[in-house]
Amino acid sequence: MTGYGTSLTTQNLKVYKALIDGKSCGASSGETLDMICPSTGFPFATIPRCSAADVGKAVSAAKAAMDAPEWVRLSAGERGARLLKLAELIDENKDKLAQLEARDTGKPLAQGYGDIEAAIQYFRFYGGAADKVMGDTLPIAVDYLALTVREPHGVIASIIPWNYPMQIFARVAGAALAMGNTLVVKPSEDACLSIIETAHLALEAGFPAGTINILTGLGEEAGAALSYNPEIDYITFTGSPDVGTMIQSAAARNHIGCTLELGGKSPQIVFEDADLSKALPIIQECLLKNGGQTCSAGSRALIHQSRWEEAIETLRTGFRSVVAGRFQDDRDLGPLINASQLRRVKAFCETAEQDGIPLIGEGTIAPDAPTEGYYTTAKVFGPVPADHQLAQEEVFGPVLSLIPFRTEEEAIRIANGTPYGLVAGIWTKDLSRATRVAKAMRSGQVFVNTYGAGGGIELPFGGVKKSGHGREKGFAALKEFSVLKTIVMNHA
Ligand code: NAP
Ligand code: MG
Repeated sequence: MTGYGTSLTTQNLKVYKALIDGKSCGASSGETLDMICPSTGFPFATIPRCSAADVGKAVSAAKAAMDAPEWVRLSAGERGARLLKLAELIDENKDKLAQLEARDTGKPLAQGYGDIEAAIQYFRFYGGAADKVMGDTLPIAVDYLALTVREPHGVIASIIPWNYPMQIFARVAGAALAMGNTLVVKPSEDACLSIIETAHLALEAGFPAGTINILTGLGEEAGAALSYNPEIDYITFTGSPDVGTMIQSAAARNHIGCTLELGGKSPQIVFEDADLSKALPIIQECLLKNGGQTCSAGSRALIHQSRWEEAIETLRTGFRSVVAGRFQDDRDLGPLINASQLRRVKAFCETAEQDGIPLIGEGTIAPDAPTEGYYTTAKVFGPVPADHQLAQEEVFGPVLSLIPFRTEEEAIRIANGTPYGLVAGIWTKDLSRATRVAKAMRSGQVFVNTYGAGGGIELPFGGVKKSGHGREKGFAALKEFSVLKTIVMNHA
């Protein structure tokens, strides 16, 4: 894989293109945007700045592909076989894709590899699942045969953020294509290159032109135009609650459905009987993964009062050992994605310090990390009042809030006491308590004595409350990306 349709500008920047109807193309305006490497703060590539005109072309291509015999006449098993082939091609190109993902997002190289591996797993899972989606027969009356079948929505618009481009693309594309939809994808202007490369691999795997279209550009231009396009049949969005509101309004105007995955402020509850030697390293690791820029990051640790001192000592030592550095140096932490996220994270920490919240422990930035890169240290604060901004809002950075509690009821109240509800972690040896608290959590997923459970390709994922609605991953996504049709036949 050499970088599909790429060339170099006079400043030595690699030129990436959008993908519309199976062809690499620039924006119709000819405009481009620079891609910044978060590790250095300097541009390394360009992408087309697509506009509404390009969105129109991509949606038309996806709509035409929906009716083309080379797509419609494929059986579910044949679609699955192409997804399996795509998984194989990604595997063959793993090194280059992992490097590209890490350079583009700033994540340490090992995490880049982890993300490519997860993408392979998604395409394998949905490749195998494509021909295992079944309807029902319904016993309504004598002389009738009634049945349900699952059909594709049609053209699915997918708006993807910068934190996990490859993984989120794979989880959407795997399920959507398995069910026979076609796709128009608007990845983030901050990180989208692995998605462009993978879409070309999909063509090589046998997906017909127009089934996967990639529009690069700005959210408020290409993204907004895509969400309002009257020819799309469904939208799936991952990102901030504010943009999620706009997406849902756009979907309402077209009377189409949407899946919204809008982040979280997920609690990790550590009860008095928890095994801290297991819990605390996992809590630290799952918060710091991807620099805390993970929707399901367990960014609030609720610690039982009796274990407070022990917990803060361990986390102080743990956070002090965390070093941030360039993606290729593969340290614990990479840079954040861009200057505005860096400002945002620093502002949260400054407010916390001004409000007198103790900083328990802080990591360092490697001396060789370029000064123009978007680096910040890992920080753990506590005790953080449960209603403080730091304990309520999504920081999206390497910042952990510790909150003490005394009783199970109090822990449940604090855990559920934010506008979000994505994931919750429970650490206890008491099975009855684990069951009670798991049932009481207002969240889409709950983990007991573990967290994140190895990526969880098979596990339905999504939120309640401000974390959004709808489910991706696992078999649940096959339902999300299809529509149920009921057929009734009178055979008297
Ligand atoms: P964002 O603006 O919501 O961006 C998410 C996606 O939506 C990107 O592809 C973005 O494109 C696109 N977009 C932006 N404005 C749009 C519009 N008006 N219409 C259609 N699409 C639009 O998020 P952000 O600014 O990158 O990050 C801000 C905060 O959101 C973070 O600090 C974090 O709290 C949260 N966030 C959550 C997740 C998650 O996984 N749940 C992911 C990212 C961010 P461009 O990037 O090209 O503008
Ligand atoms: Mg980038």
